[in-house]
Amino acid sequence: MLFGRKNRKPITIPKKDVKEWKYTTCNYCSTGCAIEIGLDEDKKIITTRGHAGADVNRGKLCIKGILEHELFNSPGRGTEPLIREKHFDDFKETSWDDALDTTAAKIKEIQDKYGRDAFAVVSTGQLLTEEFYTLGKLTRGLIGTNNYDGNTTLCMASAVSGYKRSFGADGPPGCYGDFEDTHCLMAFGSNLPEQHPIIYWRLKEALEKRKFPLIVVDPRVTMLAQFADIHLPITPGTDCVLINSMMHVIINEGLQDQAYIDAHTQGFDVIKELVQDYNPKVAQHQCGIDEDTIRSVARLYAKAPAAMSIWTMGINQSTHGSDGVANINNLNLITGNIGKPGGTSLSITGQCNAMGTREWSSCSGLPGYRALENADHRQEIADYWGIDPEFFPKARGNAQTDIFPAIETGEVKGMWIVATNPMTSMPNTSRIRKMLESLDFLVVQDVYSDVETTQYAHVYLPASVWAEKEGCHTNTERRVNLISNVVPPYANSKPDFWIFNQLAKRFENSKNMNFPDKPEEVFNEMKHLSKGEALGRPRNLDISGMTYEKLIASRGIQWPCREEDYDADEKNIKGQARLYSDGIFPTPSGKANLIPVKFFDNNEKPCKDYPFWLNSGRVVEHFHTRTRTGKIGNCNKFSPTPYMEMNPDAARELGIEHMSYVRLTSRRGDAVVMVQLTQRVATDMVFIPFHFHDCVNRLTLGLLDPYSRQPAFKQGSVRIQPVDQEEAARLNVERRSY
Ligand code: SF4
Repeated sequence: MLFGRKNRKPITIPKKDVKEWKYTTCNYCSTGCAIEIGLDEDKKIITTRGHAGADVNRGKLCIKGILEHELFNSPGRGTEPLIREKHFDDFKETSWDDALDTTAAKIKEIQDKYGRDAFAVVSTGQLLTEEFYTLGKLTRGLIGTNNYDGNTTLCMASAVSGYKRSFGADGPPGCYGDFEDTHCLMAFGSNLPEQHPIIYWRLKEALEKRKFPLIVVDPRVTMLAQFADIHLPITPGTDCVLINSMMHVIINEGLQDQAYIDAHTQGFDVIKELVQDYNPKVAQHQCGIDEDTIRSVARLYAKAPAAMSIWTMGINQSTHGSDGVANINNLNLITGNIGKPGGTSLSITGQCNAMGTREWSSCSGLPGYRALENADHRQEIADYWGIDPEFFPKARGNAQTDIFPAIETGEVKGMWIVATNPMTSMPNTSRIRKMLESLDFLVVQDVYSDVETTQYAHVYLPASVWAEKEGCHTNTERRVNLISNVVPPYANSKPDFWIFNQLAKRFENSKNMNFPDKPEEVFNEMKHLSKGEALGRPRNLDISGMTYEKLIASRGIQWPCREEDYDADEKNIKGQARLYSDGIFPTPSGKANLIPVKFFDNNEKPCKDYPFWLNSGRVVEHFHTRTRTGKIGNCNKFSPTPYMEMNPDAARELGIEHMSYVRLTSRRGDAVVMVQLTQRVATDMVFIPFHFHDCVNRLTLGLLDPYSRQPAFKQGSVRIQPVDQEEAARLNVERRSY
């Protein structure tokens, strides 16, 4: 959203005298663009540019990547560790030793008094993979809490869960190159031009070379919907009905790929029976898409020589997100569209290294897609780390969305929050505020000391950002790429890797374990653990053929990339573009599971008291809770203030004017926003970007998916009321402090 300004500054192109370019990878979204950072003759960072030789972005960057070099000295950076007795005292600067000694002592004190799980660790999708692995080793191997998870539960947990249920393992099977081979693309709840602009550019480039139908399923007329051949403005939360109904048409008209189903899947008969209840004549009244359109889309998808599905938060952030993912996989399996060029089921991941945490952080299990529930896996990792396998829990503990309520019940007394901002990102934030306030001890580790969650911290640890560190990311298409260390850490901030290692030293048992000093040594540990077999077949998550040198030479390599596949001196290697091309899946039978998904309607829907659907999502100029982009003027100026899209007809009925302020109320709380009138939303819906503090997540419900524990951010209801314009304007100015 571009806010108008009367006196626009003329555009000037600053002269940038770059003396040296350094290789790195973007640290915002999961597209994984390769970036070069430009240094002047004093080694000062002055610009960034896309790497022309990188497969992912081929020289392009979005606005966030173009301005990413402005991060390093942006306002609010943490300069020194801070400490205080009570969260309402003023912070005082302290030494790293004092901050880490206090943190370690508090962890031990809480665990001694209340048990190991009384101290929780909540992490992120923003760290480097070597940092995730080290945090996992520290948390699982030394601290020993089973209340350990990351904010990826808010974005990708349903994709992980759906992949595991369908295919037996996590890991997106497709790649961006599939756009060039597909004959039909269906995008579910994914607004690529704003969320993943460079993936969108890859799609657009493929469409310019060879036209194929683009079908967009989204209740809102998103930017991607505007470019679609067919837009299906679905009733929120009913994607399972639409997909079941499409499968009803495909199976009843004999359009399924029976040979693929027979050879590579199990459970077809149950699916076939279930979808008989989803005749388009009936389904249209639930999902809001007319029966003829359901039939024609189903035929188009099934008859395409290769068809692919992509999805993002429109599917994942729902009470049936995991079912939605499994159902997209069902659609692709019954049409034989997995593992072939242009035929895939590709979740578009959110954060830059959400994949890295899924693979190596041990949040939901043990490193390298190993499971806590598997005794052999526990033994293998315990032997490698040098600990007793009995120290590991025998099943995964709480997800992030269950860890916070465990504060309310008194089970969790202390918490370490690393690079995430629940005070803005979690649903029903006023409840989160009370939870954080009641903790005996909270340590926040973040790049920014002004991140909202520090309000309740007893200790703040200033972390380094992006190219102040070294390590890897994995992107949406399983491509591992390197972040080079280009500049020293800002002020007295430290790389997260250093912080984890230093904290580990403060636990007695660390003497028996190895915490390497260099990220590359950790990468070698991960390579070692990635080799070998799982269920009698070569592991897919195999990175043993990669080295830092090869990652730079290839501008990123996709896994699996096995040691034996490459000569030692072969530098420019690609890895494997797709998973499951042989039709063999990592399940005990080797076949994919077709999972019957029955629709149950538990959405909070518009009613007399709360007559509008509340939808939330991203805008291109901001990233997540704006801790970074809110400080970069050329990003922030496009949407510096919380706003809401509203349909002009609905606004007219309520007497609401464009650019006026309104108060929204849900059953959880209220928020004040500025109104932007647009036809992008229907008359019974409003849309609010989720980036702003004290805004949409004061309203959201956040019911949890039973499999993934991901919250439903997108299906809630609100009412709209007038508000004192002067008071709202004052509040707005206050919020624009950055
Ligand atoms: S598309 Fe994503 S990875 Fe690429 S420059 Fe933009 S934010 Fe960075």
